[in-house]
Amino acid sequence: MPVGKIIKALSGFYYVLNEEQENHVVQCRGRGVFRKNKITPLVGDRVSFQAENDAEGYILEVFERKNELVRPPIANVDQAILVFSAIEPDFNPGLLDRFLVLVEANDIEPLLCITKMDLLNEAQTQKIQEYAEDYRKIGYDVLLTSSETEVGLELLRPFLEKKTSVFAGQSGVGKSSLLNALNPELQLKTSNISTHLGRGKHTTRHVELIEIGSGLVADTPGFSSLEFMDIEVEGLKECFPEMQRISQECKFRACLHMNEPKCAVKNAVEDGDIPSYRYKNYKQFHEEIKDRKPRY
Ligand code: GDP
Ligand code: ZN
Repeated sequence: MPVGKIIKALSGFYYVLNEEQENHVVQCRGRGVFRKNKITPLVGDRVSFQAENDAEGYILEVFERKNELVRPPIANVDQAILVFSAIEPDFNPGLLDRFLVLVEANDIEPLLCITKMDLLNEAQTQKIQEYAEDYRKIGYDVLLTSSETEVGLELLRPFLEKKTSVFAGQSGVGKSSLLNALNPELQLKTSNISTHLGRGKHTTRHVELIEIGSGLVADTPGFSSLEFMDIEVEGLKECFPEMQRISQECKFRACLHMNEPKCAVKNAVEDGDIPSYRYKNYKQFHEEIKDRKPRY
């Protein structure tokens, strides 16, 4: 049976990109098999299907998902491209660390993309480069880009290859501009134009995966909710790789790096090996999770 990936779902049809045949999309029906198993196929799902002819068929089986985002509803996301502007709005490491925790917790690979580099003076550029170095030291890939001058875009392309990616980031940081610059055929509306046309927040949009090179990218940004709903304090620790790496040097095995004595993480912060803003964010998230009200 042929196997493919759902790249669009609309009016009861699933559009399946055939894995074995480049650029070949088959319009599939569900035929009720999912009602039995209580599975609603999602964009991003890997499925096997029966082709009735070259263009039409029906889905036989939905394969197990590696993860599932709620907004936008999409399965099997490999990579989140975290888009932050260097300026307008200012670079925000607090929000970045929040995204990084959510991405790590969902088993998604992060890529940090700092946009609007063309708007910076020398001193501002240097400050952003220092932040970039901090995050590279942790082990994250960081790209400095401009959709205006196209600086850095060629570095971004290889990261999209053979993966399913979702762009994430605050509104106005340049996600649509970046996608448009990568794929001029797209012509996604940027903030200015969409407000003008009144395409407000409440308009429901169908998520669709678009092909850029050999990669698939969601046309709707992800992670609109930034609450740590399913994360516990023990799990939070693991979402900070640089702290996790040295945590076996803490006196207590279950050290949460808060008030425990002889904590390797706190020592590393004092020695300047871990930036104090990272640790401050860690502590804040820890308090947030601890104070979280039970859901039922
Ligand atoms: P989104 O809300 O994240 O999709 O952001 P948009 O792509 O709509 O961009 C918001 C505004 O920033 C628009 O006016 C863009 O023209 C502008 N913008 C985006 N990227 C860049 C960039 O790299 N350089 C400059 N100078 N402006 C940019
Ligand atoms: Zn510790």
